[in-house]
Amino acid sequence: MKIHRIETGRVRIKENQIKRTKGILPPMITVLFGKKWAEWVPIYAWVIDHEEGIIVVDTGETYKTSVKGYLPAWHPYYALAVEFDVKPEDEIGPQLQRMGIDPTTDVSKVIMTHMHTDHAGGLHHFPNSEIIIEKNEYYSAKGIQGLMAGYLPHRWPKWLNPTLIDIPLNFYHTFNKSMPLTTDGKIMIVATPGHVANHLSVIVEDGGMYYFLAGDTSYTQENLIKEIPDGVGTNESMTTLKNIVSFSKLNPTIYLPSHDPLVPERMNNKEIVPCYEEVHFLDNLYKV
Ligand SMILES: [Zn+2]
Repeated sequence: MKIHRIETGRVRIKENQIKRTKGILPPMITVLFGKKWAEWVPIYAWVIDHEEGIIVVDTGETYKTSVKGYLPAWHPYYALAVEFDVKPEDEIGPQLQRMGIDPTTDVSKVIMTHMHTDHAGGLHHFPNSEIIIEKNEYYSAKGIQGLMAGYLPHRWPKWLNPTLIDIPLNFYHTFNKSMPLTTDGKIMIVATPGHVANHLSVIVEDGGMYYFLAGDTSYTQENLIKEIPDGVGTNESMTTLKNIVSFSKLNPTIYLPSHDPLVPERMNNKEIVPCYEEVHFLDNLYKV
């Protein structure tokens, strides 16, 4: 099995969105009117080369975000709190072509961590793949209600007819809702609510390592370890961050969220979430 990272351009958001700030104002207000922009960060999507077929996790963003009129200028979030830098050649389709993968014929499944535009902006490249979306996430992202919440459902491809999933109560390590994506159980879907109410993550077990394709559970590994939720999510963020930390204590985990600039370094060095080493260092100490 091989996991490839694809950077589909960059995005810039407010510091208050990356880390929730405490105070009396609702977090979304501090995001919209926050004065400080964070650094530009990458937008990652993932390609897993599995014996049952090629699986794509999230589809990244489209260059059309820089075409006037594509983003809803009337929407406070798009007007005030986000900027994109995506070129046509950064989209996932052309990048897969350059890797020798034809997105229109070679990708069996596309699974979405959630439907925000920087994850769903490349869906149009996969007209013949099975597109898998968590059921309640799909319904909350659809229509006017979805648009008001910051999704761009009117930009989804017209042919979109996803497989809607309901992640069952089924323990997988520290997660109480999970299901396998492949028959060998090496690729698992786990419920990671928080950034959005029905966010999911994908865990790939390969060679004794667990690659945690985290979507937007946190924007960085640092925020995961410090258990700092983002500025836009629900109260379930904290439980999810704790679950991921507990998982990483028990299993050597390479944490791969969609916008962490340190992801390439961690992938190259197979650098695991450090809490695993701490726990197992203590194990070894007691054995002496
Ligand atoms: Zn998101």
